[in-house]
Amino acid sequence: MSENEFDVIFIGGGPGGYAGAIRAAQLGLKTMLIDDRQGDDGKPAPGGTCLNVGCIPSKALLDSSKHFHHIQHDYTDHGISVDGLSIDIDTMLERKRKVVKQLTGGLVQLFKANKIEFVNGRGKLFADRQVEVTPNDGDKYTVTGQHIVLAAGSVAFSIPNVEVDNELILDNVGALEIAQVPKRFGVIGAGVIGLEMGSVWSRLGSETVLLEAVDDFLPVIDRDMAKLAQREFKKQGLDIRMGCRVSAAEASDGKVKVSYTKDGEEHQEVFDKLLVAVGRKPATDQLLADDSGVSLTERGQIEVDGSCRTSADQIWAIGDLVRGPMLAHKASEEGIAVAESIAGQAAHINLDTVPWVIYTDPEIAWLGKTETQLKEQGIEYKTGSFPFAATGRGLAMGNAVGQVKILADAESDELLGCQIVGPSASEFIGEVVVAMEFNGSSEDLARIVHAHPTLSEAVHEAALAVDKRAIHKVN
Ligand code: FAD
Ligand code: NAD
Repeated sequence: MSENEFDVIFIGGGPGGYAGAIRAAQLGLKTMLIDDRQGDDGKPAPGGTCLNVGCIPSKALLDSSKHFHHIQHDYTDHGISVDGLSIDIDTMLERKRKVVKQLTGGLVQLFKANKIEFVNGRGKLFADRQVEVTPNDGDKYTVTGQHIVLAAGSVAFSIPNVEVDNELILDNVGALEIAQVPKRFGVIGAGVIGLEMGSVWSRLGSETVLLEAVDDFLPVIDRDMAKLAQREFKKQGLDIRMGCRVSAAEASDGKVKVSYTKDGEEHQEVFDKLLVAVGRKPATDQLLADDSGVSLTERGQIEVDGSCRTSADQIWAIGDLVRGPMLAHKASEEGIAVAESIAGQAAHINLDTVPWVIYTDPEIAWLGKTETQLKEQGIEYKTGSFPFAATGRGLAMGNAVGQVKILADAESDELLGCQIVGPSASEFIGEVVVAMEFNGSSEDLARIVHAHPTLSEAVHEAALAVDKRAIHKVN
């Protein structure tokens, strides 16, 4: 194989591309990874949206703001009070940048250790699996791969008449770099990003208003669970307004004027900063030459089969570019599965058991089907739920908000779904993922010994409640 030929070339070094490239190299494939992202210092910053402007920096700010909020509001019951509490936003942002840099720098080391040919620059796919490489600091050249994996990720959607300048009108990138607490923080979209970033600035003192076009809050989970979460967010001061479709935003004199329609009437609001969080779209711009042979769907995603094969021979696509949830762990699993398929191994991804988590407080985690979906599909089911307020650990922690809900098939008892609103939901949703991946039943979860006292006992009790035999509540 010549210098410019590879077994596999990954275009895009987010959680999909980098995890796939590492796995391919582990399997002995001659691997190239091309990623265009650079840090503020001009150094390569692989890791994609997730590490640079997504999962990790947003969680860093969520954690900083959570500490600040808890000290202010939740510790007096513990006998803890603090005078003269303050937060230094510069320090908070610097900590976030350090976390990101540590992770992106760590990836570059991992690429070296795995002998991956890593190029910081752009890749573009042409016919016959040829990739034009444009390094950030050099001249263009062409390489060829036996296999190509497209992993270019996604970018934020925009809406007409709302121009993101990342000064006053922000997307996810600008929302992670706000230098001082805005007095009034507006958010378009009460989806995942809106709730997480709205929580950050609300906890730090912004009067935060979320304008959401649809009438139902979080339609991806059941109404009882969504109501529970919405009630908690309201208590925290988040002003979530449903049925409000934003039609325009105008920035002038350091303020943003937002126009929206509710029940057919025009309204306006003025904010100091406005976040646009109305979804994301696949980053296919400048990725595919006209002769690449790769087809897109009507929604602009790259068309793939269940194994991530595109319409072009030996070209694969993964992560946010393709169907399925836009989540980092889903992208990584696809990258790894594709690398294994290329190496001739049997690989499989089960999109039905991909868990979702919203890292608000309480956290919201779920997987599988909701009651609404089961009713629509005519599937007979039974449910069991259990509140954290009835767990010893929740009460001892002083954080007993929310509940676990489990859905199981009425006849076979096979687990069909789980939704959790509550503390650390992100951590113990994993137990239900494992059970569902093994086609487990609510009985299985009910018979597993759970450590006491833990929050995960609420999962155990919810499983017991499916057959009306929970111990610490009236069934
Ligand atoms: P990406 O991470 O987008 O990576 C693709 C990379 O390819 C990018 O660096 C891009 O610059 C590069 N690239 C694009 N085109 C080219 C090209 N032609 N040549 C070279 N390089 C190219 N998901 C979670 O699971 N948990 C979370 O907590 C979470 N939080 C999020 C918070 C925010 C604010 C946002 C915006 C997203 C969040 N996500 C979260 C979603 C998650 O970031 C994405 O699902 C995930 O990053 C997708 O991975 P990917 O590898 O497909 O693409
Ligand atoms: P989203 O799809 O979660 O929410 C967008 C919301 O904007 C929707 O509720 C939509 O109805 C609303 N909307 C659209 N147009 C509007 C308008 N004109 N006026 C008012 N509301 C409008 O999208 P997002 O929050 O931008 O996040 C994008 C994706 O990023 C997520 O779907 C998820 O895949 C990923 N993400 C994941 C996490 C996580 O896993 N914790 C965190 C952040 C982002």
